[in-house]
Amino acid sequence: MRIDKLLANAGFGSRAEVKKLLKQGIVTVNEVKVKDPKTQVNGERDLIQVKGVEVHYREFVYIMLNKPKDVISATEDRIHQTVVDLVAHEYGHYELFPIGRLDLDTEGLLLLTNDGQYSHQLMAPKKHVGKLYQAEVRGCVTEEDVEAFHNGLELKDGYKTKPAHLEILKAGDHSLVQVEVSEGKYHQVKRMFEAVGKQVMKLERLRIGELWLDEGLSRGKYREMSIGERELALRN
Ligand code: URA
Repeated sequence: MRIDKLLANAGFGSRAEVKKLLKQGIVTVNEVKVKDPKTQVNGERDLIQVKGVEVHYREFVYIMLNKPKDVISATEDRIHQTVVDLVAHEYGHYELFPIGRLDLDTEGLLLLTNDGQYSHQLMAPKKHVGKLYQAEVRGCVTEEDVEAFHNGLELKDGYKTKPAHLEILKAGDHSLVQVEVSEGKYHQVKRMFEAVGKQVMKLERLRIGELWLDEGLSRGKYREMSIGERELALRN
């Protein structure tokens, strides 16, 4: 990547402002002064410094967020705070977006990145990456429901769902369940329960592929993911 683009992306101002910094001779790459904005650099390998202070820049960023409710899974919104707003003060220059969506009232594991290819890999329907949700459900969830989820349900719009694994943790007027689905249709879990005459009252995503939500992250908190974690999310 060009040095002017990297510095602009890392928050040193517009390309024109960065050009001025370069002209001043205060930018070094591997301890060599660099003035040409077209100079190619590698943000992960090269030591880039402005006035002797190291610039930490990576082209791609991967973030695990514990999404709270009332925050929308979008990059911009006129009414609600977005998941990108939650991380903006630290990662505002990275043009992050959420990988897939959780409903406004759904909480839990959501990944953010600016790596379109990684996002595409995770979202590809053929990949069948499993997603585990915990749900509080109004109504008594039964073994027949477990069977129905396993066999695939017909939703209101006629769509037949793929087999899903439903586990009852607590049955009663209000039930507590975990459900793993391998597809991500709009309101999927809520509509599946609707198809068996029940209502989801609270929904939280716990896992994507083999990547669990870090229990140490409270709601609204986030952290960068390791390469290993990125790979776990892609596993079936
Ligand atoms: N299923 C839903 O109904 N909502 C979500 O946010 C995620 C899965």
